[in-house]
Amino acid sequence: MIQDEAPNLVSLDCKVPAGVWSALRLRMERTGETLDQAVTSCLGEALDVERHSIFQVSTSGALVQGVYQAATTIGDVRQHGDFGLGTFVGLDGEGILLDGLCYRAGSDGTLTRVPDSTPAPFWVATRFYADVEQHILNVESWEDLCSRLSALRSSENLLAAIRVEGVFDFIHIRVACKAEAGTSLVDATSHQAEFRFENLTGTLVGFFTPAYARTINVPGYHLHLISADRLHGGHVLEIRAKSLKVSLHATNDLHLVLPENAAFLHADLNTDPAAALAQAEGAHPHG
Ligand SMILES: [Zn+2]
Repeated sequence: MIQDEAPNLVSLDCKVPAGVWSALRLRMERTGETLDQAVTSCLGEALDVERHSIFQVSTSGALVQGVYQAATTIGDVRQHGDFGLGTFVGLDGEGILLDGLCYRAGSDGTLTRVPDSTPAPFWVATRFYADVEQHILNVESWEDLCSRLSALRSSENLLAAIRVEGVFDFIHIRVACKAEAGTSLVDATSHQAEFRFENLTGTLVGFFTPAYARTINVPGYHLHLISADRLHGGHVLEIRAKSLKVSLHATNDLHLVLPENAAFLHADLNTDPAAALAQAEGAHPHG
């Protein structure tokens, strides 16, 4: 069932006792939170809503080994987050979850809404709350964007969710093409579809993963594009922009769900996937 409206924000209008209100005001003075943030924090804590934690199904090491079989559904991923990225069965396209709505970028260049029943082999999601918001100017390249984002993080050893919005003077993306299960990620992405756009308005959705966690998730920065007109999307390889709004939230909390399908259970996940991930997920020399 696809909802028509982004379900991630609702307005509350309710009466609370004066004592609760004054306690909330004291909390806001102490923490510097806005009213929205304070109410979200307090309700989230009381109701045990995961905040800032990253929910992930399967691992980067499994993708490298060609484990592209169903391990979850988009509906399950959406139970744990309103923001994230992933892929689909058979590595058939790139997934983007933004403001609670899930989209699939296809290798034919289309972008479509994805129903909750859709199975998926690998996803990473979170409920996104920015800790840091900043405008960055004159981004010259992917490497430049990565170094600007690194300046906003306090530790190389924590995970972070990252949202980037603006007009991309140039952006180069790829969309993985459907592959047979068991085809290595390097081989599967050697014939990926690539698209280049100029002056495209959109949002980048993704994560920073520390190098030590490279068997779990793609190390470094991993961002997927979705255009504002919801016509284009894919895995970002290169970028240039004059002005971008960057929002970031760091977290020390990862909720990892491992697949129980035969492909995962029997895959050799003890090799270092760093070189294969760099080749499969980064810009290709010819690109
Ligand atoms: Zn990707």
